[in-house]
Amino acid sequence: MEVPLLDLKAQYATIKDEVLAAVSEVLESQRCIGGPKVTELEEKIAAISDCRFAVGASSGTDAILNSLMSLDIGAGDEVITTPFTFFATVGCITRTGAKPIFVDIDAKTFNINPELIESAVTEKTKAIIPVHLFGQMSDMDPIMEIANKHDLAVIEDAAQSITSTYKGRKAGSIGKAGCFSFFPSKNLGGIGDGGMIVTNDEQFYNRLFIMRNHGSKPKYYHKYIGGNFRLDPIQAAALLVKLPHLDEWSEARRRNAANYDKKFSGTIVQTPYISPDCVSIFNQYVIRVPRRDEVMAHLRENKIGCEVYYPIPAHLQECFKYLGHKEGDMPESEKAAKEVIALPVYPELREEQLQYVASKIEEFVG
Ligand SMILES: *Cc1c(COP(=O)(O)O)cnc(C)c1O
Repeated sequence: MEVPLLDLKAQYATIKDEVLAAVSEVLESQRCIGGPKVTELEEKIAAISDCRFAVGASSGTDAILNSLMSLDIGAGDEVITTPFTFFATVGCITRTGAKPIFVDIDAKTFNINPELIESAVTEKTKAIIPVHLFGQMSDMDPIMEIANKHDLAVIEDAAQSITSTYKGRKAGSIGKAGCFSFFPSKNLGGIGDGGMIVTNDEQFYNRLFIMRNHGSKPKYYHKYIGGNFRLDPIQAAALLVKLPHLDEWSEARRRNAANYDKKFSGTIVQTPYISPDCVSIFNQYVIRVPRRDEVMAHLRENKIGCEVYYPIPAHLQECFKYLGHKEGDMPESEKAAKEVIALPVYPELREEQLQYVASKIEEFVG
């Protein structure tokens, strides 16, 4: 049997005619930048995120970059985040000229450990970027408390957690803004790159809106230096077809996750911990196992897709050497990087495929 980590073709088969029609509609209109599809998607993503406003972005990365630039963050500033994240989070901080300040993760959730944040705050700190990893939101109450106390902006990196909740509140709706990615492997994935920023702050929304078009308002008059951070309407059209399915797809991921949990119970496999405060959308189902690399090789020999998110924590990346970190600085992130494996959890995964994956792991770890 073959089990890919993600099977986008299986999903596409269920919506192909609608996607083709929606893309064709954009092509026929020749409205190739902005337009009604982008606006409609922004309104709908804002609504499902319990936010008043949304601004499309060219990618999840550019959603984060626009957010930081719209906060006027730059050289001399510090931004607190987790080292156990996709590169984009930290890449964007450094691209503004600001310095990333790393705070280690909570071993159970893989998200930033709020207890370690306050001691990282200095007079240079401008913002905190909690990353809602693998589909589960960070522990937002203590994060917001620290942020409010020190007057810091919170930008939620919700690239992997659209519609996920914390104490009933939606990802992106708690901080100053939330950033989503429509990279094809995300729960709501486009047919190319795309992203979005949601916010409840009207003034901030206006700034994000201007910044995504080179900071121009009115046209050709630049009060700010922005970028080309626009979401393209072909992506918006395809995403509008997929959006009505998002909840049922996330539900199917949760069912698969629960099924794995059951199969691994009583084994040495450490299954994901989901806080009682959270509903995860399981963008990834990530386990911890001893002898991780051997387990992965075994899975791949048996044609099972699996991946390590993420093998090198940001503080140990070569490009961030100038920050002066060394191994041991972020022990929980480093340990996680050595122990985690993401397993196939996509909505179309069939019971016999899931059973096959679980059995191949069990037969190896005993
Ligand atoms: C995917 C992702 C991003 C970046 O999104 P892109 O659309 O690929 O630019 C940022 N942060 C996290 C945590 C992600 O998973």
